[in-house]
Amino acid sequence: MMRMTVLASGSKGNSTLVASSRTRVLVDAGLSCRELMRRMAIAGEDPSALDAILITHEHLDHVAGLAVLARKLRIPVFFTEQTHRAWVRMLTPKTTMTYAKWLDHLQQEKEAKAAQATVQESGRSAEDLCEIPAVSLEDVQAEEDAPPAVKADPSALPAVEYFLAGTNFCIGDIDITPFTIPHDAADPCGFVFAAEGIRMAIATDLGYMPPNVKQAIAGSDVLLLESNHDLEMLRDGPYPWSVKQRVLSRVGHLSNHATAEFLSRDYDGGAAYIVLGHLSESNNAPELARISAEQAVGDRMRLLGNRILLAEQAQPLESIQL
Ligand SMILES: [Zn+2]
Ligand SMILES: [Zn+2]
Repeated sequence: MMRMTVLASGSKGNSTLVASSRTRVLVDAGLSCRELMRRMAIAGEDPSALDAILITHEHLDHVAGLAVLARKLRIPVFFTEQTHRAWVRMLTPKTTMTYAKWLDHLQQEKEAKAAQATVQESGRSAEDLCEIPAVSLEDVQAEEDAPPAVKADPSALPAVEYFLAGTNFCIGDIDITPFTIPHDAADPCGFVFAAEGIRMAIATDLGYMPPNVKQAIAGSDVLLLESNHDLEMLRDGPYPWSVKQRVLSRVGHLSNHATAEFLSRDYDGGAAYIVLGHLSESNNAPELARISAEQAVGDRMRLLGNRILLAEQAQPLESIQL
């Protein structure tokens, strides 16, 4: 028996629980820890039974609650090394200054003033001098006096495990194959989970459907597939031009049209359930995504056994069990 529970799906947060009868993993933690716990409770899932968290990529809608949840449950987090690094960079403040550095900085400032005086004497403009960033004494003291909890590393995790796209690994009795997806993150991945003769795949956040993704998700019994936007709604919608370009790009998100094209042309048709996910709230309507996928499947009679479900942003989807 395997189970997939989509806790949330969309640009405001993603998280999906995948379980065999012995092992439970959470894919992404893109809501606050509190909200993830609340949704697991609603869906009848026990957070304390989770074995690990897997991360597809470092965008905030996939990692917002990650550190807090992992520390609370004391479970390992699986990333690619590049994704982990990108995530740590994201959480690390860009400028921090120790007391020693601050003393250095004071010295530099003194020297700069002396140099400026020399320059002014020689008639050159003070703007020729390089600018030294202004850091007040209060800033330094605030950090020095901060309680240990504030100073604590925000990216600290109970344990970090690295995987490589294209190389499968096991957590408990679930065999996991990560595959590369085309998306504008450090090293984004989708996953195929296999246990007890059942395969479940997650492929969201991808600009198009490359051959390696089609190949990876073939033979899935449950397929969580992106159907992000309706092309016309995106074009006429509220996003600024640059964001529209990003979404439409080869490293953006899959449109209803692209998903339908995959379903009607390349999909092998074996899934009991196709779950459409990562629907945009501004540039899509659930009914448009559903109709588009149903038409694509309807064009191929042998796919009619596939049930199409829509993952939601605001609430968990009922668990799919096979
Ligand atoms: Zn993303
Ligand atoms: Zn996303």
